[in-house]
Amino acid sequence: MEEKKKSVLVLGGGLAGLTAAKRLVDRGFEVTLLEKRQVYGGKVSSWKDEEGDWIESGTHCFFGAYDVLYDLMREIGAYHAVLWKEHKLTYTLSGGDRFTFDTWDMPSPLHLVPAIVKNGYFRFGEMFSFSRSLVPLALKKDSYPPTQDHLTFAEWAKQHKFGDRLLEKMFRPMALALKFIPPEEISAKIILDVTEVFYRIPDASCMGFLKGAPQEYLIGPLQEYSQARGAKFFSGTGVEELLYEGGEIRGVRLQNGDVLSADYYLCALPIHNLNRVLPGELKRERQFFGNLEKFEGVPVISVQIWYDRRITPEDNVLFSPDGVIPVYADLANTTPDYRTLRGRPHTGKSRFEFCVAPARELIGLSREEIISRVDRSVRDCYPETSKGAKILKSTLVKIPQSVYAPLPKMEGYRPTQKTPVPNLFLTGGFTRQLYYDSMGGAVMSANLAAEEIVHSSNGK
Ligand SMILES: Cc1cc2nc3c(=O)[nH]c(=O)nc-3n(C[C@H](O)[C@H](O)[C@H](O)COP(=O)(O)OP(=O)(O)OC[C@H]3O[C@@H](n4cnc5c(N)ncnc54)[C@H](O)[C@@H]3O)c2cc1C
Repeated sequence: MEEKKKSVLVLGGGLAGLTAAKRLVDRGFEVTLLEKRQVYGGKVSSWKDEEGDWIESGTHCFFGAYDVLYDLMREIGAYHAVLWKEHKLTYTLSGGDRFTFDTWDMPSPLHLVPAIVKNGYFRFGEMFSFSRSLVPLALKKDSYPPTQDHLTFAEWAKQHKFGDRLLEKMFRPMALALKFIPPEEISAKIILDVTEVFYRIPDASCMGFLKGAPQEYLIGPLQEYSQARGAKFFSGTGVEELLYEGGEIRGVRLQNGDVLSADYYLCALPIHNLNRVLPGELKRERQFFGNLEKFEGVPVISVQIWYDRRITPEDNVLFSPDGVIPVYADLANTTPDYRTLRGRPHTGKSRFEFCVAPARELIGLSREEIISRVDRSVRDCYPETSKGAKILKSTLVKIPQSVYAPLPKMEGYRPTQKTPVPNLFLTGGFTRQLYYDSMGGAVMSANLAAEEIVHSSNGK
C-alpha cells in the first residue's frame, strides 16, 4: 500500500515560502500555502495598476553571489530572464559628478585594481588608507566580519581611520541600499561580509536585473511549478495564530476563524508578522522564540517616476550618496519589458525606480512631498539632462516594516530554521543563513528549512 504523504502548511507566500513549497513538493510532501495578500511574492511582489503599468514592492538587483537563487531559477525555467549588466558600480553625486568602481576580468584581488586606482573621485591616499583597513579581512577572510558585529559600521570606520569622504560617499549609500539603514545603525559585520565576498569572488558584485516584472519571471513561475505538482495555494488568507498545545503545534487559526492542521508547519512570515502569530506561551517558555521580539523591520519607500525624456543612458544599478535616493535604476534602460507607460511604448525616455531611504522620517510625509523630494534628488544629480524635464507619471509604495534591521549584536539572535518545537520550522530572510534578508537569503533559508523538514520526517 502506498504510504500517505506527510502534509506541510506553509504560512506566507513570499520568496521564502514559495521556494520552500517547491522544495517540499519535489520531496513528495503534500503542501498547502497560505498568503495574506491577494498577490504572492511578499517583498518581491509586483502587480499592474489600473493603467496597466507594473508596480513593484521595490527595485530588485540580482547580485552575482546568489548562486542558490540562480539554481532555483534554472529549475523553474526562469534563469533566462536575468539580464547581467556590465560589471561596475556607478555613484551619481550632487551637481552631476560621478565616480565608478570598475573591475577587470581577472582573478581576485586583481579584479579590484581599477576600482582602487582609477575610480576618478577618491584620492590615492584615501584609497590607500581604505585598502590598509581591509588587511584583517584579506587575511582572516570570512572569519573576520563576525568578530566586528558589536560595532556599527560608522564606529568600525572611525577606528580604521579611512576618512569621512569614503564613509559618506561610498558606504552611506551602500548601507542604505543593502538594508535601508545608515552606517551609524548597521552592524559592521554586514558591510564587511559583503566587502569580503566582493573581494574574494570576482563575479559576486556583478549585478543583474530581471527582463520584466518579478511576477512574470520569478514569482509566477515558482507558483505554477508547485501548483502543477499538486500544491494548493490560497491567497487572501491571513493566519491569525498558531495553536500550541502539549509541546506541539496543533493547527493554525486563520483570520476568518477557520482552523487548519497538518503534520508540519513552516512559518515564512516577515519577523513582525511572525511575532504576532506566535503564541505568547511559546515566547515565554522558550528563549528561542522570546528572542524574536528583539527584531524589528526597517521602513522603506519605493518610488517610480516616468519622465518625458531620457535623463541617463546608464543600463545598470546606480547609487547616490546625496539626497533621498541611495539606490535606483532607470528601468527603461535595465528592464526591456518596462519601456512602457499606460500600455504605450515609452522608449528613449526615463522610467526610474528609486529606493528611498532612510525612510523613518519620510514615511509619514504626503505622496506629493515624497515624489517632490525624489524629483529634486534626480535634478540635483542630473542638472543638465533634467533641465525642463516633466514628470509624466509617478507611483509610490510605502513599506513600514520591510527587511529586519541588522543592528550590532543581532546576529546571535537570528533563529535557525529548526525550532525547539518538533513540528514547527521557520524560513525567511531573517533566519540564520549567509545572505541576510535578501532574495538569496530567502531562497537559502527555504532550502535549509525544507531539508530540516525532510530530516524530521525521516525520523532523524
Ligand atoms: C524595497 C525593497 C528592495 C529590495 N531590494 C532587494 C534587492 O535588490 N536584492 C535582494 O536580494 N533583495 C532585496 N530586497 C529584499 C528581499 O525582497 C527580501 O529579503 C525577500 O524578498 C524576503 O522574502 P521572504 O519570503 O523572507 O519575506 P516576504 O517577502 O516578506 O514574504 C512574507 C510573506 O508572508 C505574508 N504574510 C504576512 N503575514 C501573514 C499572515 N498573517 N498570514 C499569511 N501570510 C502572511 C506576506 O504578505 C508576504 O507575502 C528588497 C526588499 C525591499 C522591501
